[in-house]
Amino acid sequence: MARTVKRAFKFREGELTLAKMSGPLDIAWSRPLPEGAEPSTVTVSRDGAGRWFVSLLCTDTIVRLDPCERAVGVDAGITSLATLSTGEKITNPRHERRDRERLARAHKELARKEKGSANREKANRRLARVHARIADRRRDFLHKLTTRLVHENQVVVIEDLNVAGMTRDHSLARAISDAGWRQLRTMLEYKADWYGRELIVIDRWFPSTRTCSQCGTITQTMPLDVREWECSGCDARHDRDVNAARNVLAAGLAVSACGAGVRPQRESSRTGRSAMKQETHRATRGIPRPWTGEKPTPHATAGGMRERTGRGTRPYM
Ligand SMILES: [Zn+2]
Repeated sequence: MARTVKRAFKFREGELTLAKMSGPLDIAWSRPLPEGAEPSTVTVSRDGAGRWFVSLLCTDTIVRLDPCERAVGVDAGITSLATLSTGEKITNPRHERRDRERLARAHKELARKEKGSANREKANRRLARVHARIADRRRDFLHKLTTRLVHENQVVVIEDLNVAGMTRDHSLARAISDAGWRQLRTMLEYKADWYGRELIVIDRWFPSTRTCSQCGTITQTMPLDVREWECSGCDARHDRDVNAARNVLAAGLAVSACGAGVRPQRESSRTGRSAMKQETHRATRGIPRPWTGEKPTPHATAGGMRERTGRGTRPYM
């Protein structure tokens, strides 16, 4: 449910007044507008939790970042949200566990209420509010993380996880959905495009976890509970996730150097199939995309503008 207006609003000194309203709206801003920004379109929406949102579409000039030398591989984690090839572990936000407890409680409450009753309706709304807050916080966290990754690195390499295929493992499914890996990827895609960085997505056939990042020896099995292991080929001791992130980085850089479609030899000789693909180009067409499947929020403004030469326009996010 959303209503978009192009002219029926007034924006003055940071205050938004919609047509036929006597005063400006009391808005809790998700972040300040870019300096001097004049919104061209205002979208008003309400989510399942009964909260109202206004999204302002503004044009803003993107200043491309100066090229840098750094590259990073990112491994999607279970215990931590992501692990970087630098060894840094990005943990799930601290509030996630508390939020999950609240979520469980709200579910239980709802189940106890009689169907069709006013109390059930109320419990329903409470549940929706908990859901909405979790989604908001996660998005916020991912925005900060992806902005940082793109600012600090010229090349960011991630794995294309097949989330659908992994949902058979219950705990993993939960961790993945919590971590919002897809969301992280989407953000990296358009931010890399904005700032002139490269995002490389390597495909999931690549055994990043089982391959030694030092010598390339592939270990046959690697149960989920193994957090550290020793390579039988070179005796290197690995943290499971850091090793995987390093492999992701190496695989991505190989693609970057060879160009798309060239198979890195080590992998193709063993598996007989292309170990990776480059998606940067596909990823940069027609973005940014709307946040599919999500409630509209002030962050969720979608637009179709694209910049080419380093200066251009983008929707305000
Ligand atoms: Zn090794």
